Amino acid sequence: MSLPQFRLLRPRTLGEALDFLGKYSGHESAHTLPAQTSRGPDGRGRPSPHEHSRGRLSPQVPIQVIAGGTDLIPSMRQKLFEPEYVLDLRGIDEMRGIRPAADGGVAIGALTTLRAIETSAFLQQHYPVLTEAAATVASPVLRNMGTIGGNICLDTRCLWYNQSLTWRKGCGFCIKKDGDLCHVAPGGTKCWATFSGDTPPALLCLNAEIEIAGPSGARRIALHEFYTGLGDNYRKLQPNELVTRVFLPAALADYRGVYRKLRVRGSIDYPLAGVAVVVKRSNEHIDDARVGITAVNPAPVLVKGVREMVAGKALDETLAEAVGDLAAKTAKPLTTSALTPEYRREMIRVFTKRAVLAANN
Ligand SMILES: Cc1cc2nc3c(=O)[nH]c(=O)nc-3n(C[C@H](O)[C@H](O)[C@H](O)COP(=O)(O)OP(=O)(O)OC[C@H]3O[C@@H](n4cnc5c(N)ncnc54)[C@H](O)[C@@H]3O)c2cc1C
Ligand code: SF4
Repeated sequence: MSLPQFRLLRPRTLGEALDFLGKYSGHESAHTLPAQTSRGPDGRGRPSPHEHSRGRLSPQVPIQVIAGGTDLIPSMRQKLFEPEYVLDLRGIDEMRGIRPAADGGVAIGALTTLRAIETSAFLQQHYPVLTEAAATVASPVLRNMGTIGGNICLDTRCLWYNQSLTWRKGCGFCIKKDGDLCHVAPGGTKCWATFSGDTPPALLCLNAEIEIAGPSGARRIALHEFYTGLGDNYRKLQPNELVTRVFLPAALADYRGVYRKLRVRGSIDYPLAGVAVVVKRSNEHIDDARVGITAVNPAPVLVKGVREMVAGKALDETLAEAVGDLAAKTAKPLTTSALTPEYRREMIRVFTKRAVLAANN
C-alpha cells in the first residue's frame, strides 16, 4: 500500500510548528473544513471521499501532525488519512527530554521516545509503572521511533477501521470514516473504537497532566480530561494545537507500580486489555492505590473507588479480587478487537488482581 502524496513541513521550533498549523489547518474546526483535492503518487487524482463513500462523508483534515510516525504512517497507507500537509515535529529539540518540573515532579517532552522513557534510570526509580508500560509498547524498533506524545494522542482502533481502503470499501464504510453505520453496535449512532495505547493508563494512575500549546499560548490539563470517551472524536485537541509536555507530580513519585498486558503476539502487538496499578504502602497497610485500564473502552480509564476500597487495609487475595471485580465492571469491551469481549473483560479482572498483589509485594 503506497502513501498518498503530501507536502512535508519540517519546523525547527515550536513557534514555527504552531505557525504552520495556524496557516494550514484553518481557523475552523477540522470537522467543518472542506475536503482537499490532490494527486496521488501515480499522478492520477486520488479518490475523494465522495467517490469511495456510500454514507456520511468524513471531511479530510488538511494537515496531520507526525512525531515518530509509527501509527500515522500505517494509517496513511490504509488511506485513513490523506492530508495535503504533514507536519514533522522531530526537528523541535525543545519538545524532547526528561527534566525536573518547576513545581516539583518531572516534565517529559512530548517527543521523548518510548525507549528513552523505558530506559530512564530516574523514571525507573520514581515512576516504575510508566517505564513498565512503555517497555511493552510494540517492539524495540518501534519504541526507538514512537514518542510519548504519539502514544497519548494515538487514534482509536477497530477491526472494521484499521483496514485497507479496498477492505473497507468491500465491507462497507462506518461512522468513524466515510460511513453512517457501526458494524460493532448496529443501530447505534456512536463509534466504540477502542483506545489502545499502553502508557496512558499508567499516566492516569500517576495523576499526569499534559501541556497543550496553541495560537493563544499554552494550557495545562489533567490527562483524564483529554479523552472524550467517543471512538471517533476521541481527544480534545484542536487542529491548530499540539501536545508539548507531560507532567508527573512529585506527590505520586515512589509509588510502587506494575503494568500487565494481554496481546496475541508477545513481541509486538497492541494491547487487547491492559492494566496499570500503583500502590503506596505504610507498614503492612495500603495508604493509596490506583488502577488504570486500557484497550477495553474508547478511552483509557481510571477505575473509580479503588482507594476507598483498599485504604487502611492489609492486602490479601480477597481484597485484590474485589479490586479486580471493580476494574472488570469498568471495562466495556466490544467486538472492536481480536479475542472476545468476554475474555478481554475477564483478563482485566485477572490482571488487576495479579498486578495489585505484585505491586504490594
Ligand atoms: C506493529 C505495531 C504495533 C504497535 N503496538 C503498540 C502497542 O503495543 N502499544 C501501543 O501503545 N502502541 C502500539 N503501536 C502504536 C505506536 O507505535 C505507539 O502508540 C507510538 O507511541 C505512537 O507514537 P508516534 O510518535 O509514532 O506517533 P505518530 O504515529 O507520529 O502519531 C500518532 C498520532 O498522534 C498524533 N500526535 C503525535 N504527536 C503529537 C503531538 N505532540 N501533539 C499532537 N498530536 C500528536 C499524530 O497526529 C497521530 O494522530 C504499534 C504500532 C505498530 C505499527
Ligand atoms: S466501532 Fe468500529 S465499526 Fe463501529 S463506527 Fe467505530 S470504527 Fe466503525
